[in-house]
Amino acid sequence: MSLTPAPSMETMKEGITFSDVLLVPKRSTIASRKSVDTSGSFSRNIKLKCPIVSANMDTVTEADMAIAMAQAGGLGIIHRFLTIEEEAAQVAKVKRTESVLIEEPYTISPRDTVGAARDFMRSKQVGGLLVVGEGRKLLGVVSERDLQFHDDDSAPVKAVMSSKLVTARPGITLEAAAKVLARHKIEKLPIIDASGTLKGLITAKDIKKKRLHPEASEDPKGRLLVGAAVGVVGDFMERSAALLSAGADVLVVDVAHGHSDHVIEAVARIKKRWPAAELVAGNVATYEGARDLTEAGADGIKVGVGPGSICSTRIVSGAGVPQLTAILDCAKLTAKSGVPVISDGGVRDPGDITKAMAAGASSVMIGSLLAGTEESPGLMIVRGGIKYKLYRGMASLTATLSRRITESGGHHRVDDEEAMEVVAEGVESMVPFRGRAFEVVHQLAGGLRSGMSYSGARTVAELWRKAEFIRITPAAWAESLPRLERKS
Ligand code: IMP
Repeated sequence: MSLTPAPSMETMKEGITFSDVLLVPKRSTIASRKSVDTSGSFSRNIKLKCPIVSANMDTVTEADMAIAMAQAGGLGIIHRFLTIEEEAAQVAKVKRTESVLIEEPYTISPRDTVGAARDFMRSKQVGGLLVVGEGRKLLGVVSERDLQFHDDDSAPVKAVMSSKLVTARPGITLEAAAKVLARHKIEKLPIIDASGTLKGLITAKDIKKKRLHPEASEDPKGRLLVGAAVGVVGDFMERSAALLSAGADVLVVDVAHGHSDHVIEAVARIKKRWPAAELVAGNVATYEGARDLTEAGADGIKVGVGPGSICSTRIVSGAGVPQLTAILDCAKLTAKSGVPVISDGGVRDPGDITKAMAAGASSVMIGSLLAGTEESPGLMIVRGGIKYKLYRGMASLTATLSRRITESGGHHRVDDEEAMEVVAEGVESMVPFRGRAFEVVHQLAGGLRSGMSYSGARTVAELWRKAEFIRITPAAWAESLPRLERKS
């Protein structure tokens, strides 16, 4: 055994992070920030007009957050600390929210009762059902209005449905469908083929929602994009199957130390089983880590070991790489193979997003800045009249213990000994309530737009080419922060 320790002063690198640098302003031909295109990517085939992604954490992203993120042009990744069925249901909820065409509208048989129709509508929170017969032939529509004054719940749906239908054929454009709906003053347009078989439904409500969110991240069928996280042990293959069949657009293999054999093997297994599925893996903090996961089949690499606001990994374990250095290193992979790098964690201010992107990231994952919004699943807390939301690291003591309790179906009782054994690498905190996620993302994207225009960059690719960082001193960073009047 050699007596020389592996590390040496000569080869020791220096690591830097967001507040160690600023972007040097460059001559710009950009007259309006509106003409800056912030489009980035989360994986090889997931492009985002706004390259901001909400973290897969149990106090950040479930369906409501994922919907808001996708409507704003970003993306939400549903966390994995749910049962398989619950996580898949969250994905399905996002996919049903907005679409050009609802492929599987809720239907009922003409022989079912009025009472059953009423219950079904209430349970699915819809105002109407399509009535189909044998072979899904469309026979009519039954709406709340038809049932309003109908007291006999045992009557068949056939007796109350309206069979005078306005329909359209598959392939109709959104604009044409909107015109038909307006002309006939109707809310729902069933789509049927030449033989009268139901093929889908277009609703006025969905068209309205779409117009409100022209930047939304959508799949080719016009449904909102959503990602979902999986682990690398236990039921992860079964979970992946359920999430993909619920419509997840991208799976995220999410482990604290992604550069390890079992993660590489899990990525390879998922990719082999579902070669067409988009797969992002992490977290890593070095080029070698990013390369190995890409070689195993990842289509996007999540970068960040220790920068998170609720993270204590670096303090507890002594391991990590300052985030800007980690991005600069991993982004060499994007230059070589086109696989996007996602900067995950450590964004404190909007300017950090521009810095992460300028360093080579194709998108940025955010926890704390989104955890305080209406859409996050975290608990709301009021202290001294001020609203906060709970935000916790997924490796914090409470998250680890509550996961064990959930996994046992609520039967597990945690004793002192077990609590003592947990080596937490995260903390729990409260973040100020910030209102709606859509608006927070809008602000963050505005910062990115502005930052890009200071670098004279109209696109992210141009930002990568033109950005010039300047290293700054702690005094220069202090100068950068807004200050109140100085008392001398
Ligand atoms: P933030 O945006 O700085 O709050 O960072 C969010 C990121 O922190 C997440 O996307 C995760 O990568 C990471 N993270 C979440 N929970 C933990 C934890 O318990 N320990 C360490 N890192 C965590």
